[in-house]
Amino acid sequence: MTTMHEEQSKAAPEPLALVQALLNTQYGQGRRAHIELASPEQLRAWLVARRLLPDGTPVTEGDFRRVLQLREALRSLLRANNAREMPASPVEALNRLASNAPLTVRFQYDGVPTLEPDIAGVDGALARLVGIVFTAMTDGTWARLKACRNERCQKAFYDTSKNRSGAWCSMAGCGSRLKASAYRHRRAAHSEGEREKKAKSADAGEPG
Ligand SMILES: [Zn+2]
Repeated sequence: MTTMHEEQSKAAPEPLALVQALLNTQYGQGRRAHIELASPEQLRAWLVARRLLPDGTPVTEGDFRRVLQLREALRSLLRANNAREMPASPVEALNRLASNAPLTVRFQYDGVPTLEPDIAGVDGALARLVGIVFTAMTDGTWARLKACRNERCQKAFYDTSKNRSGAWCSMAGCGSRLKASAYRHRRAAHSEGEREKKAKSADAGEPG
């Protein structure tokens, strides 16, 4: 059974939740597809709403493409976090994007250093997201951010289970659907086997 708490715990801690939000601007397929970023203008509004971009900053087609490239390269890493194979190595794409998104270490008065973008505009937003990913990889939270194992979903969720065994964005949704279809497959295989057994014993019973 899925509790309200379990569903709520699928959100990553801040600021990693920002990266999760970017990933979840698209997931699912066909009628269940969720698509938030379909144009540079939609991306601009999304970045401004999350304080990743000052209002009034233009977003070009190239900016739009780069952010979607970052999103899909990160999704490949999230698949690997959920014991799935990566469709293509995202490392080259990530390094190419990161090379245009410089970061500087800034020491804070509380003693915890942060990575700050060294560039303005959408590249600055990209840099901030890359910095959040880097920090999450070093503090161990990254390994818990996963792409749903349902290939037709791939929604990003934060796995809070003790042994990091979570596989689905939601047990009530993808988890139960996949379990039900696995059960139907087993049932079908079982009754197929039973039919064969019956056919064989009928054959054997027939006089030769
Ligand atoms: Zn899912």
